[in-house]
Amino acid sequence: MAIDEVGEKVEELAEAVGRLDPIRFVREFRCLSCGYGIVVNREPPQCPMCGTKGSWEPAARLN
Ligand SMILES: [Zn+2]
Repeated sequence: MAIDEVGEKVEELAEAVGRLDPIRFVREFRCLSCGYGIVVNREPPQCPMCGTKGSWEPAARLN
């Protein structure tokens, strides 16, 4: 499975969880190094695109 596909799956899963449990909202982060966006419900991991760790900025919350 390609990295892009994993990212899409994560977003789909996050959206599904958000619909099931709106209280436990997910957050979107964007990599400061490469601009890659991820959606997680916890602290973001190492960037899957550029490998940078801990350089995320919060983006708009999904609704
Ligand atoms: Zn990155």
